[in-house]
Amino acid sequence: MSKQDDHHRGSGIVRPGKVKEVTSLTNPIVKDLRSLALKKFRDQQGVFLAEGLKLVIDALDLGWTIKTLVYSKAGKGNSLVEQVAARTVAKGGDVLEVNEKIISAITRRDNPQMVVGVFQQNLQMLSNIRPQANDVFVALDRVRDPGNLGTIIRTADAAGAKGIILIGDTTDPFSLETVRATMGSVFAVPLIRATEAEFLSWRKSFTGLIVGTHLKGSVDYRTIPYANKPVVLLMGNEQQGLPDQLSSACDRLARIPQAGRADSLNLAIATGVMLFEIRRDALKLDATT
Ligand code: SAM
Repeated sequence: MSKQDDHHRGSGIVRPGKVKEVTSLTNPIVKDLRSLALKKFRDQQGVFLAEGLKLVIDALDLGWTIKTLVYSKAGKGNSLVEQVAARTVAKGGDVLEVNEKIISAITRRDNPQMVVGVFQQNLQMLSNIRPQANDVFVALDRVRDPGNLGTIIRTADAAGAKGIILIGDTTDPFSLETVRATMGSVFAVPLIRATEAEFLSWRKSFTGLIVGTHLKGSVDYRTIPYANKPVVLLMGNEQQGLPDQLSSACDRLARIPQAGRADSLNLAIATGVMLFEIRRDALKLDATT
């Protein structure tokens, strides 16, 4: 380590990142970035990819830590891209100028965005969550489908939910597909990871209302009084629904009445229907709450 690095360590001064131009797909930095399409490497490095200039700006504004900013030559001279590059370097992140082929390879897309950010993952612990009256959290049991999870994160953001509790073995919230489907809400809604046992134990000290949704639920979801208390909305797995251990931990088991031939609603749709009913009184056209 150089004297300069020594000087910066522990001094509170952020060492500015580096700016590089990379043109080859076989460059080791590019190989490293391409590996982030796989969960194993995202977890090893504790990072994930977010595509698009607006998303990257929103994430920086919300205080997320950027490790690397990648932009294609098409972004050169664009003042917003240059501002984001300057913010990245000032925060100690690196900036890579690449060609469109490289961005395509990193994001596995034919028509890639001009800008991609590599951000540090952020998952919170259930033990730190203390819901207040009128707070709504969504708890998802072993959600499998990345598109469903992304859509739920986006919908939870739009409904003003305070966080999403991911119970058990779920699809990765930081996969390319999930992050894409969140349309940026992945940066706005806290994500909390818990095992089923951790959730059940946390539940014992939770004094609010836990509303599970179940195809055998006996309560019409529109008849439950949700106001003036914290609410956890618990949603079942796409294939199996809620297992007995979780459904018996609920205060109410709600059902959304259906017509037609469909057995059930898609998980993300059912979550949306429930969330907007729970938040009915809180959401107004002329105010953001
Ligand atoms: N085969 C599964 C089952 O038997 O529960 C279907 C699961 S459904 C696709 C996924 C989740 O969406 C359910 O576990 C439940 O949380 C919610 N859901 C879907 N339709 C619902 C309805 N009509 N009423 C209440 N919850 C519903």
